[in-house]
Amino acid sequence: MKIVLLGPPGAGKGTQASKIVERYGIAHISTGDIFRKNLKEETPLGLKAKEYMDKGLLVPDDVTVQMVKDRIAEDDCKGGYMLDGFPRTIVQAEALEAIGEKLDCALDLVVDYDKLTERISNRRLCRSCQASFNLKYHPPKKEGICDECGGELYQRDDDKAETVAARLVEYKEKTLPLTDFYSAKGLLRQVNGDGTIEETTENVYAVLDEFR
Ligand code: AMP
Repeated sequence: MKIVLLGPPGAGKGTQASKIVERYGIAHISTGDIFRKNLKEETPLGLKAKEYMDKGLLVPDDVTVQMVKDRIAEDDCKGGYMLDGFPRTIVQAEALEAIGEKLDCALDLVVDYDKLTERISNRRLCRSCQASFNLKYHPPKKEGICDECGGELYQRDDDKAETVAARLVEYKEKTLPLTDFYSAKGLLRQVNGDGTIEETTENVYAVLDEFR
């Protein structure tokens, strides 16, 4: 199974992606996670990405596409993968096609715009295992501590209010057109992501079980 996960920042892509890869036994490729890992390790890729991430902008296509091509070529992707946060532009989607990747589906998490800012401002991540929590809707059992691994929770710099607005503008201008792109190819499947995590997961499984 080869799928891409679309949806605005704060739609719950990361949360749903973790459940999807577990259920279907496919690799999880999150471009945001790869950039953050490189940033933490201060690699040249991480330092380059930081210039854009800090401003809420997309990292240039050439850098991102090469990174994803390398990742898809790894062994664990042979049995299928879920791309989480890629493609985010038409150029990226075309590059994925150009390397001959045949997708089963582009799953779009549709969430009311008014909910996104609130979801993002309450998001906290684990420094060690990247598990995601929400102070309001999915709080950790102990404040500041990851339920999964006991790691420290933190707020992403780009989840702070000043950067979120820029990310939503980038989404509307550059990523939203992908719904038409994949719809024209008959690959788009939209699911409602407005409800609880569990409700959204049910909606997601109802679509993806078809491609098992
Ligand atoms: P995410 O964790 O998916 O919200 O991504 C965090 C940030 O990483 C984004 O705001 C971008 O700056 C960068 N990023 C992640 N995926 C991509 C992509 N496919 N294209 C360009 N930039 C990306």
